Amino acid sequence: MQFLTHYFLHLVFPVIIAYLFFKKDWKKVSIILLSTMLIDLDHLLATPIFDPMRCSIGYHPLHSFFALAFYVVLLLIPSVRIIAIGLILHILTDTIDCLWTFSHCHECYLKSHLHF
Ligand SMILES: [Zn+2]
Repeated sequence: MQFLTHYFLHLVFPVIIAYLFFKKDWKKVSIILLSTMLIDLDHLLATPIFDPMRCSIGYHPLHSFFALAFYVVLLLIPSVRIIAIGLILHILTDTIDCLWTFSHCHECYLKSHLHF
């Protein structure tokens, strides 16, 4: 279920956003929003590459708080605004996923970088 929601948010939600807010060229906007999935390539730097119990927020370089601040700055630049929206949506999706994992794995929360 968590897996399904995650991929729904990653793959379908961007298309819905594109359709609702950019009706005129929703296909192009969808592709741009979906291409922000590429920031998941930073997972390749981690060992193991995939760990369902690990929260990517604050862990991987392109999912860090610093990166998020950078994406927010990008929002202010009209020519890259759609990319910025996609990046922030991506971070939000991953955050929802982390909270979901934490809700049934307290240890995951303690080990994550969202725990101070
Ligand atoms: Zn991600």
